[in-house]
Amino acid sequence: MSRFRLYPTPMQRVALLEQCKHARYVWNLALEQWSMWTRDKGSTPGYVEQARQLTDARAVFGWLRAGSQTVQQQALRDFAQAVKNFHERTHARPTWRKAGLHEGFRVVGPQASRLEQTSRKWARVMVPKVGWVRLRVSRAIPDAKSYRVTRDRSGRWHLAFAAIPPPIPALGTGEVVGIDRGVIVAAALSTGELLACPGLTESEQDRLEQLQRRLTRCRRGSKRRRRTQAAIAKLHARASDRRKDWVEKTSTGLARRFDVIRVEDLRITQMTKRPKPRPDPQRLGNYGPNRRRAKAGLNRGILTNGWGALVRRLEHKAAGRVEKVNPAYTSQTCSNCGHRAPESRKNQAVFQCVACRHQVNADVNAAINIAAGRAVSVRRETPRRVSPKREPQLATSA
Ligand SMILES: [Zn+2]
Repeated sequence: MSRFRLYPTPMQRVALLEQCKHARYVWNLALEQWSMWTRDKGSTPGYVEQARQLTDARAVFGWLRAGSQTVQQQALRDFAQAVKNFHERTHARPTWRKAGLHEGFRVVGPQASRLEQTSRKWARVMVPKVGWVRLRVSRAIPDAKSYRVTRDRSGRWHLAFAAIPPPIPALGTGEVVGIDRGVIVAAALSTGELLACPGLTESEQDRLEQLQRRLTRCRRGSKRRRRTQAAIAKLHARASDRRKDWVEKTSTGLARRFDVIRVEDLRITQMTKRPKPRPDPQRLGNYGPNRRRAKAGLNRGILTNGWGALVRRLEHKAAGRVEKVNPAYTSQTCSNCGHRAPESRKNQAVFQCVACRHQVNADVNAAINIAAGRAVSVRRETPRRVSPKREPQLATSA
């Protein structure tokens, strides 16, 4: 996905936010209908039915009618796609769009191609119901059929094209690499390299904590509260920029260096879903600890490490060269002698084989096993067909 910074005028900013509000309203209505479904009610309304309801709603609500119908219909289509992705188990369940957090809308079709370069550094795009908005040409503008306008939490506007990058050809050396999602670093390679995904520096983290503490003491609706929220949003945006940059550079580097890239076959959505409450056999009706807190920490770790984003990008850039390996026992099996014992995993960082005494970084050990395709079955992923109309995913909704 290529992103360009938009520079709307203050008037245009208001108009853009209004469109975001419409798209969000329509999405949330569709979500509400979908989540209220019960078995006895028959089938849920699909896109066609919802689009008809949208026409009715536009007839009733003047504020909705004032917005672009294309944008509102697109929000419904995006929702239908999100439901489909959920049923195909490639994405998590669609969630509520919140004001200030998920501000964005999509423009598709002929309207999306009204874009022209005005100088070497500047271009302008015709956004329906908003007008010509200036954007900075920071790279070649792709030939895409749709774009998404977003506002991040620190108030910056962007134009994102859902363009799939051209695949990088294989070198033909037959070189294989295994990648393991690390616990301490973002990823470990079977070559022994450890890849750290940059987030916030220690002093930035301290500052974030300080701001979050301050926020709890601010009065609701106060100026101070808004200022603090803006400062927090700025830090989050910075971390997210660094993560995206890292994902792009790392995936390009790996696709260039290796012919076959093996990763563990984990559905990140399954890893990150909320753990089930565990009934406590001693006290009926009560629930024991379900490690939700521990899992919450892990979830954050996975997300900040951008593991899911990295694999997705690899599948684009090294199309047809990414293989998913069943990760069972890769962390317990010795990459030197093949002996499998849970006791060999000394702690999160160290693997020391109980049979041959081979000692190695635990994540690298797993990565070597993944590279060897040692664990049970290997299946080649045929590159998933990606519709050019598909919603560019907000990188794990951040
Ligand atoms: Zn061993």
